[in-house]
Amino acid sequence: MPAMPVKKLTIVLLVALMGVALQGCKLPIERAQASPSVRYASPAEEKPQGGKVSEFESLFASWSSSSGSDNSDTVQTEIPSNNSNYIYLTFDDGPDPKWTPQIINLLARHKAVGTFFVIGRSAVTYPELILQEAQAGQMIANHGYNHMDLTTLDYGNFFLEVKDTENVVREALSAYPDLSQNVVPCLRPPYGAINDNVWTFAYRLPYDVSMWTLDTNDWTGLAAESILDNVLTKAKAGSVVLMHDGGKDRSETVEALALILHEMTLSGWEFRPMCTAEGQQAPSW
Ligand SMILES: [Zn+2]
Repeated sequence: MPAMPVKKLTIVLLVALMGVALQGCKLPIERAQASPSVRYASPAEEKPQGGKVSEFESLFASWSSSSGSDNSDTVQTEIPSNNSNYIYLTFDDGPDPKWTPQIINLLARHKAVGTFFVIGRSAVTYPELILQEAQAGQMIANHGYNHMDLTTLDYGNFFLEVKDTENVVREALSAYPDLSQNVVPCLRPPYGAINDNVWTFAYRLPYDVSMWTLDTNDWTGLAAESILDNVLTKAKAGSVVLMHDGGKDRSETVEALALILHEMTLSGWEFRPMCTAEGQQAPSW
């Protein structure tokens, strides 16, 4: 086989590089224009392929920041906001004295708001973490008192699981009445277990049932880079992202969150509260 002339080879390589660059440039826009979709997370549905994406995005970010100004903040302001570039970050199974403060600090540093679905029995053990969440402007939602499968309960026990959790959260904030607006009427059933009773009982309280549309799979023990890839490759406008700040070692989640907040902020994404005192902002299920 004859060797390819050096000049021709250079041109081929340049064209290939430009192709990669163009594809990468389009990524944030494509994600931002995607219409919101509501579906339950199915872990095996999409193959991780974000390694190259995140690699390119950090490369792109470094190009952009070095081209115009020394201040990397200019990257963010150059991207127009079209009000469809937002996702909802949600954290289950806290509060936890090791992981929750780290997550709160990361969110605060990026001016991001998340929604914490707390377990009542942990909230009563660590009321200071509930206070810390609310004082940082984060939203505090309900994951039941004992992390039980709610589909197995009658209304009386269902009521106690939810209301006892709400009461310990309100108690933790009782010295600061203004922070009660951070306590939100959203319920995420443990294990994602729902049936007609859960819907009916929650409605009666009244609470919104709050599921998710993007499972980071952090609960399976994935490495931070893989958690990041899951979010970058699956995020659409209005995605509800499932992560965990308690239950077991969440060091990979914390590391992944730092990467997610950094990369997606540079790409113009916002992180909004899924629930407010008025109820759920994300699509109803
Ligand atoms: Zn849980």
